[in-house]
Amino acid sequence: MTNQIKNMQLEQAKTLLEIYNKRLAEIKRSIIELAKSGENTLKLALEKKRIENIIKQIKKEFKETTDEAIEESYQEGKNEQKTLIAALGIAIIGSEQKKTMQNIYYTHLSRITTIMSRKLATYVRTDFSDKKAVVNSLNRLIPQQSGIKPLNNIASTGILSSEVDKKRWQRLMKRLEQDFKNKDIFTVPYYNKAGDVVRHVKASTYAEMLARTLTANTYREAAQDSILEQFGEFGDLVEILGRSAVDCSECKPYEGQILSLTGKTKGYTTIEEARASGLFHPNCIHSFAVTDRVIDEYLKLNQSAKGQRAIDYLLLKQEGEVKNAFYRNDIGNIDLIWGDDKKGLKHIITRRMQQNIDTKEFLSNLAEVIEKGQLVRTNNKGRYEIFLNGKMAIIEPESINGKQTFLLTAFKRRKA
Ligand SMILES: [Zn+2]
Repeated sequence: MTNQIKNMQLEQAKTLLEIYNKRLAEIKRSIIELAKSGENTLKLALEKKRIENIIKQIKKEFKETTDEAIEESYQEGKNEQKTLIAALGIAIIGSEQKKTMQNIYYTHLSRITTIMSRKLATYVRTDFSDKKAVVNSLNRLIPQQSGIKPLNNIASTGILSSEVDKKRWQRLMKRLEQDFKNKDIFTVPYYNKAGDVVRHVKASTYAEMLARTLTANTYREAAQDSILEQFGEFGDLVEILGRSAVDCSECKPYEGQILSLTGKTKGYTTIEEARASGLFHPNCIHSFAVTDRVIDEYLKLNQSAKGQRAIDYLLLKQEGEVKNAFYRNDIGNIDLIWGDDKKGLKHIITRRMQQNIDTKEFLSNLAEVIEKGQLVRTNNKGRYEIFLNGKMAIIEPESINGKQTFLLTAFKRRKA
């Protein structure tokens, strides 16, 4: 599973960087063309229009690719959980909900295009017929962090005070173009919690980090939704999966731990608490799933479950019995057994499946029917039928070590 996250992260980062680098190359070309244009107003107008279009284009591509990435990561996260839970061989599978994810991915990426368009808007206002103004503008446009130096050389040549030789200017521009290659010229500020800028990172590095982080977060959100949908009221426990890589050391203490997704199952550290201590940090490849250990935990917690929860417990355990699972004033305690194809809960499920009835849905009010339905005695051996809302439960007496209790033996559709 963590390999899957890693692969998706790599793929997304690659796609995003391809878009960014392609458009960045076009922008760099236009920056140089503008610097070389001088007083050629036609050429200036053309390049300015071109820059505008490139920004429009990159915004569109960022939006499209992130919409797709979110959709894919979410689907993968859900499918993976479905596969993992199916592999546990347990009988409860809940209904799937449709969900529209918000593209927060794009909101973060927009910081890049906003910075790009602001810086370029300032640059295009330069008086390109004035070489000194062009040098100053280029120096403002390209941050020191980019590692591009030739502008300092231009400034130190001293040519600016006098008439600039056209050939020389072209040569310097050529050199700048060479130095531009494979270098990012945009940076994004990183803020701390107080809102101060801590440092600047290359826009490409920022895009890559976003791709990794948000792919994994979307995947985990899907995993959480899938687990909560499938286990419903029963619980929200998961095991943290993944082996700690060098850059995942904050997650190490949580590997193999059983955590609660929402805090609903008491007595466990919640995912939120673990997150506050570093779990699922940026670039993290860890995830979680319902594993055999989680199921064991549920079985330990629910040994004396009553009512509907006792039914879910047996569905997970798929063996044994629950003593006194239900109670009625008129007949007393009623036991529930897992049984086999001929009796017990397994029998009920097998029969309903043969009739193509949604088992989960059908069993959802079994406890209610038994405990609140109308009781009818059908023979003098103590066999009872209980009716509620078009369903019927059959309860029969059983004697264990001379002590008489009742047992659920059938549950089907039947009007009173
Ligand atoms: Zn991690």
